[in-house]
Amino acid sequence: MEPTVYFVIPCYNEEAVLPETCSRLTEKLDSMREKALIGPGSRILFVDDGSKDKTWELIAQYNRENPWVEGVKLAHNRGHQNALLCGLMTAMPLCDCAISMDADLQDDIDALDQFVTKFREGCDVVYGVRNKRETDTWFKRTTAEGFYKVMKTLGVDVVFNHADYRLMSKRALEGLSEYREVNLFLRGIVPLIGYRSDYVYYDRHERFAGESKYPLKKMLSFALDGITSFSVKPLKLISNLGILISALSVFGLLYALISYFAGVTVSGWTAIVCSIWLLGGLQMLCLGVVGGYIGKIYSEVKARPRFRVETYLQNKQEK
Ligand code: UDP
Ligand code: MG
Repeated sequence: MEPTVYFVIPCYNEEAVLPETCSRLTEKLDSMREKALIGPGSRILFVDDGSKDKTWELIAQYNRENPWVEGVKLAHNRGHQNALLCGLMTAMPLCDCAISMDADLQDDIDALDQFVTKFREGCDVVYGVRNKRETDTWFKRTTAEGFYKVMKTLGVDVVFNHADYRLMSKRALEGLSEYREVNLFLRGIVPLIGYRSDYVYYDRHERFAGESKYPLKKMLSFALDGITSFSVKPLKLISNLGILISALSVFGLLYALISYFAGVTVSGWTAIVCSIWLLGGLQMLCLGVVGGYIGKIYSEVKARPRFRVETYLQNKQEK
């Protein structure tokens, strides 16, 4: 029996790319169906992450016209990771496996056959890994690759150059559903689930149209602690203050040294002033880091819902 595969695609203000994404995926699914790679119950599941443009109208229209398409509308914008989780959890009871990918066609859809083939060979998780990062700017490439290295050094098990293009079997999804964290970082969680896994290598394309929803600031905060919670911000301010004061202490240090050599100080003053500045800055920095962890505990303890589904448009049309 061919597996029922759900293609889960989070979309935030993607009206510029959706028509193309939908038509290319439809074509792809038709051909996979012809090759008997996927079953007739397979679906493309677009998750509208509280878009402000016409994204949802488009999804609803495709859902009426195209038997492959289903849509979930979130009640508000919850960010890529939460939107993805919502899509995967919606697909879980309905599918044999789900493949997550971006709406902007950056993830090569021609690699989809290989994902499904590996699944049929018995893999529960298949990671999409980029061959090269030529389409990214030098800055994005360097920071992203640096990030993977830092994560590895810190002992976090992440797959190098793998974003969120991946296949998960039903039981892997059930495993995922047991992870209840609010600070969601899926590529950190998935390797923890276990089961047999494999890799599919692909070339990452340029964003097809529209703008990246991950500007530098968003990327940094994603890298630092997954999804930021509004209540953690004051704590972050403390560590920023610490950095600022540490930097200022260098000037304080210069000033103290110059005064010393100019002979306008009492002895011992220099050492005291330098250590006050340096240690004060360092203490605030450390306090900020500790505060960051407390902030995370705070949001985890509250365990607020990670997403709320407003509408789910299923598709029962015959394919
Ligand atoms: N996205 C989302 N919610 C957000 C931001 C982004 O669902 O708040 C989706 C977006 O529509 C896209 C995917 O996440 O399908 C990846 O975003 P993007 O392509 O902008 O990131 P980049 O590829 O530039 O890192
Ligand atoms: Mg993209």
